[in-house]
Amino acid sequence: MMNISVQNLNMTYPTGKIALRDISLDIKSPNLIGLLGPNGAGKSTFMNLLTAGLLPTGGSILLDGEPLVHKEKKLKSKLGYLPQSFGLYDELTVWQFLDYMAALKGIRDNKKDIERVIQETNLKDKRKARIRTLSGGQRQRVGIAQALLGNPELLIFDEPTVGLDPEERISFRNLFSKNAQDKIVLLSTHIIEDVQSVCNRLIAINHGKILFDGTPEQLILSAQGHVGLLENQQEEQGFKVTARVNTANGVHYRIVAKQLPFGAQVVEPTLEDAYMYLIGKEGDKQ
Ligand code: ADP
Repeated sequence: MMNISVQNLNMTYPTGKIALRDISLDIKSPNLIGLLGPNGAGKSTFMNLLTAGLLPTGGSILLDGEPLVHKEKKLKSKLGYLPQSFGLYDELTVWQFLDYMAALKGIRDNKKDIERVIQETNLKDKRKARIRTLSGGQRQRVGIAQALLGNPELLIFDEPTVGLDPEERISFRNLFSKNAQDKIVLLSTHIIEDVQSVCNRLIAINHGKILFDGTPEQLILSAQGHVGLLENQQEEQGFKVTARVNTANGVHYRIVAKQLPFGAQVVEPTLEDAYMYLIGKEGDKQ
């Protein structure tokens, strides 16, 4: 069991840029959490703080009740992290790289463990390939594989499905959900499909603030009555078009709006609609 408590977390970079504003939340295992938000929302900053790669300018993070800064050693042995930009050693083979990472993590029975992660990330025929010869998706899989070494209790993946093809994305969704059974898995993404089927909790942030923290079902409910279909062209006012569909009867628009315009047919929101509504709602306030 693991428990992370984030209390009034603030992060202002030396440039003066405020990346996180007063974030508070609790995370307990098991949990598979999707961290959503547009580019620049503060997702990577949050993950860097959780992995002690950055020190907050305000507030604190408690790991099992104790400040993270005093628990860095414990954290290291329990953490698998895939950062957004991950430097791989181009001249090493996949096996050599994983062997090196396992040594850094102090993993004892590392042969067995390396075999396991190679299997899980479908890299069996690539174990002897040099990293520089791999495709983008294969490199990403090596990054995910190193995070899984040692079977850590806390897995943090910053945009793990970037560069993966649809089949690989599906296989990783299953891998994340399998891994989350007794762990905390936190994955950031802006691909809604990645979190839809596997995450039991979604945290949406924008401009460094939490906009939503709840289940996917709750997010969908929050957009009910705010998603509609419009026939034919209309001035785009007070609503956001999420899809433009050409049909035999002309063009139909799928829209999200605080107040649907006259003539719109109300439809059930998808998770993507609900996310667009949430982000758009915040835009209105500014
Ligand atoms: P996301 O991961 O959601 O795209 P980030 O956490 O990378 O967002 O960035 C949040 C904000 O902080 C952005 O405005 C970004 O430009 C800024 N930022 C990120 N890293 C730094 C840094 N090292 N120095 C200054 N500003 C930064």
